[in-house]
Amino acid sequence: MGPVGPQIVCRVPTRCNFGSLGEAPEFQGGVLDALRQPLEEGEVRISRSEGTASFRARFTLVLAANPCPCAAAKQINCSCAPNVRRRYLSRISGPLLDRIDLKLELTPASRAELRYDLEFAEASQIVAERVQTARDRTLKRLADTPWRCNSEIPGPELRRRFAPPAEAMPAADEALQNGSLSARGLDRILRVAWTIADLAGHDRPGEDDIGGALALWTGRRS
Ligand SMILES: [Zn+2]
Repeated sequence: MGPVGPQIVCRVPTRCNFGSLGEAPEFQGGVLDALRQPLEEGEVRISRSEGTASFRARFTLVLAANPCPCAAAKQINCSCAPNVRRRYLSRISGPLLDRIDLKLELTPASRAELRYDLEFAEASQIVAERVQTARDRTLKRLADTPWRCNSEIPGPELRRRFAPPAEAMPAADEALQNGSLSARGLDRILRVAWTIADLAGHDRPGEDDIGGALALWTGRRS
């Protein structure tokens, strides 16, 4: 099946939209990279000779990608040359990946894992309650600010007013030092770390929360 266009579904009136792009590397690079500015700024700006119009565009973007063009169910059946596999995923540009907070490599689920999941998976209602508790915690912390969730806090404020304690930062500091984490990436992992802390009921992000956010941003499995 070929690529499908963005599917924008309004879940919460005006505040939070959701878009998913399946088979993301099949899109032309320019199409995906056009999402960078709205991802960063929460609005789409269109400039014409008559002027510039801005449209609110805060959304959650989900990109999905097969590891290679042949999309074999098992790697052993993949017919793609190594350089073809490498080139395929690199069609999603570094600057766009920089703005993707959570990256996960999924492996095929075995029948045993599917059975295990069905037996022990949490009900959506329980997960929703946990998310609501975390959101309430965030709202309380941000009560005297213009923001309602961690993703809305601007970078400078995040580093000044909501800076995690220095002892929580060794992994992020090391990643900045060796170049595997960009300055923009640092802001993004701080926001995710606050969300992890809110979900765990921590007052501030600790070392594990920062480490978890960094692992999600880099896409490395812990
Ligand atoms: Zn393949």
